[in-house]
Amino acid sequence: MPVTQGIHHITSMVNSAQRTVDFYSGVLGLRLVKKTVNFDRPEVYHLYFGDPAGSPGTLLTFFPWEKQPHGRIGNGQVGTARLAVPARSLDFWRERLKSFDIPFRAGTAFGEAFLFFDDPDGLRLDLVGSEFEARGEAFGGIGREEAIIGLEGAVLLSSQPERTADVLRDLLGMEEIGRDQGRIRFRAAGDRGRVIDIAIRSEIRGLMGAGTVHHIAWRAKNEAELLQWRERLVEQGFAPTETKNRNYFEAVYFKEPGGILFEIATDPPGFAVDEAEDALGERLMLPPWLESERGRFDDLLAELHKPTP
Ligand code: ZN
Repeated sequence: MPVTQGIHHITSMVNSAQRTVDFYSGVLGLRLVKKTVNFDRPEVYHLYFGDPAGSPGTLLTFFPWEKQPHGRIGNGQVGTARLAVPARSLDFWRERLKSFDIPFRAGTAFGEAFLFFDDPDGLRLDLVGSEFEARGEAFGGIGREEAIIGLEGAVLLSSQPERTADVLRDLLGMEEIGRDQGRIRFRAAGDRGRVIDIAIRSEIRGLMGAGTVHHIAWRAKNEAELLQWRERLVEQGFAPTETKNRNYFEAVYFKEPGGILFEIATDPPGFAVDEAEDALGERLMLPPWLESERGRFDDLLAELHKPTP
C-alpha cells in the first residue's frame, strides 16, 4: 500500500494576480516557479510559488480572478497553510511583517512557536519555527538562514473530523501523533509538508470563493503509485476523477468525507519539464494542447510584473 510523503501543493482562490505575486514573492520570498493557466478554465492564471526549484512540499498555488466573490473559510476546506522557517528566524519574520504593515500574532501549539497572519485576500498562514536542520534557499532578498524552507503542514477544517482522520491514516498512510488544543495531529513520512492537523470542532460551513483554499494535494512517488491509490479509492467507495495530465504532474481528485477536495499528485516530472530551471516562472507557459491559442491569452490575462517591494 502506498504511503504519501506529505503535501505536494495547496491551491487557493484569490482576486488579484499581481497582488499575489507582490505578497508571496515580494514579502514571503517564495519564487514564482510557474506562470500558466488553469487547465480546466484557461482564461484564468494558475500561479505556482515555492522554493527555487519548485520542489513538491514547498508549493502554494493560486487561481486569481478579479470578478470572483469573496468566500468564507469553514468546514470542507483547508483552514490554514503552514510554512516552515528556521526556528531562530522568527524574530526576523516579526520585523519583516512589521516593515510591510502586516498585522500578525504569535501562538504556540504542540510545544512549537509560530506567527499567524492573513494574506491580502484573507487566506490564513502560519510561519512555524522548525527545528529541522534543513534550510531554505536564499531568494528574493531573504537569506538562507531566514528563508521559508517549504510547507510545514496544514490545518484541515472537516465536517467529520474522525472520518477525515481515517482517510489520513488508512488511505494516505499518516501516523496520528497527538491531540492538543482541539486538534488531531498527523505526521506523514516525508520531511516537508508533513504535519497535518484536523480541527476537532469547526462549526461554520465554508463557502468557496476568493480568500479560501480550493484543494490540497498529497504526494505520490510516480504514476504507478497514483494508479494504485486510484484503485483503492474506487474499492473504498470514493468517486475519484480519471487521472489528469497537469503537465508538471499527474493528478487524481476526490472529495473526502469531511467535504475537503483532496488531490493526489505525482512528484515527476516537475517544473523544469518545459523551461530551464534558472528561468522558471518568467514566461507564460501553456500545455501543448493550448499552445496554438497563445495569442488569445495575451489579451485575456493581465501582464504580471516583478514584485514591488
Ligand atoms: Zn492541485
